[in-house]
Amino acid sequence: MTQQTSVLIIEDEENISEAIQYNLRQNGYQVLAAEDGLKGLGIIENNQVDLLILDIMLPGMDGLDVCKEIRKTSNMPIIMLTAKIEEYNKVVGLELGADDYVTKPFSMSELLARVKSLLRRSNMNSTSDNEQSNILESGDLLVDLNKHTATIEKTPLDLRPKQFDLLTFFLRNKGKALSRDQILENLWGYDYIGDVRTVDVHVRWLREIIEKDSRKPNRIITVRGFGYRFDK
Ligand code: CA
Repeated sequence: MTQQTSVLIIEDEENISEAIQYNLRQNGYQVLAAEDGLKGLGIIENNQVDLLILDIMLPGMDGLDVCKEIRKTSNMPIIMLTAKIEEYNKVVGLELGADDYVTKPFSMSELLARVKSLLRRSNMNSTSDNEQSNILESGDLLVDLNKHTATIEKTPLDLRPKQFDLLTFFLRNKGKALSRDQILENLWGYDYIGDVRTVDVHVRWLREIIEKDSRKPNRIITVRGFGYRFDK
C-alpha cells in the first residue's frame, strides 16, 4: 500500500508556485496548490496533506496566521517561504510552529532537500507513535496489540480472546474504577443480554493467569459494590 506523498503549496506568486509544483511533481510528489491562506486551509480540511510549503506574504490572511490556524489541529510539517526583509517574520514563524524556512530567492534543490528531510523526520515520528500506541504495559505486564500477544516478564500468557480483550480494556483504563456494566458493555456490546456476573467470572479467570496469588490480587483490584480497577 504505497500512497503518494502529497505536498500543498500556498503561494500567491504564480511563477514561484508553478516552479515549485513542477519540481515536486518531477520528484514523485502529489501536488496541491492554493494562492491564498483561506483556500489553503480549505484544501487541508478536505485532503490528505503530508507537508505544507507556506509563503509568509500572502494577500488577506498572511502565512503566519495560516500557520497558527493549522497548528490548532495538526502537526503536519510546515516549511515557510520568506523574503530577506522578513527576517523578523521568520523567527515568529518558527515560534508559531513552522518546522523550517527557506529564504527567497532559493534554489529548487535546496527546497527539495528540506522537503525530503522534514518528511523523513515526520515519518519517523509517526511510526514510533504508532508502535507506542500499540503496546500497553503495566510494570512487567505487556500487551502488544499488533502481535496480539500478552507477556509477563517476557513469558507469553495463554489468554482466550475475551480474556485478552478484558486485559486490554483494563490496561487502557489503568487506575480507573470500571463498573461491571461498563466492562460488560465494552466487551460484549450493548446488545448483550447477560448478567454482570459474567464479568466476575472472566475477571476471576484473568486473575488466575496474571496474578501471582489470585486470592490476593494486586493488579485487578475489586472495587466493592461497583466493579474493578487495574492498579498502576
Ligand atoms: Ca507571496
